[in-house]
Amino acid sequence: HQQLTIKTEKLSIAGQLAASIAHEVRNPLTSIKGFVKLAKEGSINSDHYNIIEDEIDRIETIASELLVLGKPLSIDMKMCDAGKMLRDVCMLLQPQAVMKRIDIKYEDVNDGCPVFCNAGQMKQVFINIIKNAIEAMNDGGVIRASAQIKDQFIVICIEDEGKGIQESVLERLGEPFYSTKEDGTGLGLMVCFNIVEQYGGKIDVHSEVNAGTAFTIRLPIGEN
Ligand code: ADP
Ligand code: MG
Repeated sequence: HQQLTIKTEKLSIAGQLAASIAHEVRNPLTSIKGFVKLAKEGSINSDHYNIIEDEIDRIETIASELLVLGKPLSIDMKMCDAGKMLRDVCMLLQPQAVMKRIDIKYEDVNDGCPVFCNAGQMKQVFINIIKNAIEAMNDGGVIRASAQIKDQFIVICIEDEGKGIQESVLERLGEPFYSTKEDGTGLGLMVCFNIVEQYGGKIDVHSEVNAGTAFTIRLPIGEN
């Protein structure tokens, strides 16, 4: 009986997600269709082509963000060092940060932070959270990232000095396609919550408006 309940619940979440995807993809498709009609009539100009390009980019972004979820979560799982992966991601995003006068500081508290995970997915979680941190900071500043073993968990913290998150937004984090950004997809955190939950971990968010936000990821210590 219990299994049946779980299955039904999963289906309805999948159903909800499918409905949101259909909606988000249909908007750009409708506008592309309109411009193709114009092209056929011979009344298309270069502005129209730019819009078509933007709309196609949007569908592409949505597809690639969803791809992470589409892969079976248990595939390619192995022991990884969460600290090393976090450091790699910090280095990867440093150029983007520097352009906004942001410094990403990485702190390795322990020698190693073993996590049993799919390396690509784990890195995606760090990328999505640090990208949000960069996007939240418009006057430069520091993003602090750290990994440590604490209270029987691997604890990863990512703190920014950005604009913070209002209570009403905080409640909706992780909802598919919920974004406050003009060009956001609202998929980044949903993907993060999903992956971390599958690994038996959880994500906590603390935020102060106009001061900054801290994301704390707790994961079970990986055991050989
Ligand atoms: P997107 O980045 O495409 O908007 P996300 O799922 O990554 O989608 O984030 C959802 C929303 O959460 C963002 O639009 C933003 O309002 C809020 N958010 C996430 N991280 C931060 C942060 N570090 N600082 C401020 N707001 C944030
Ligand atoms: Mg994002």
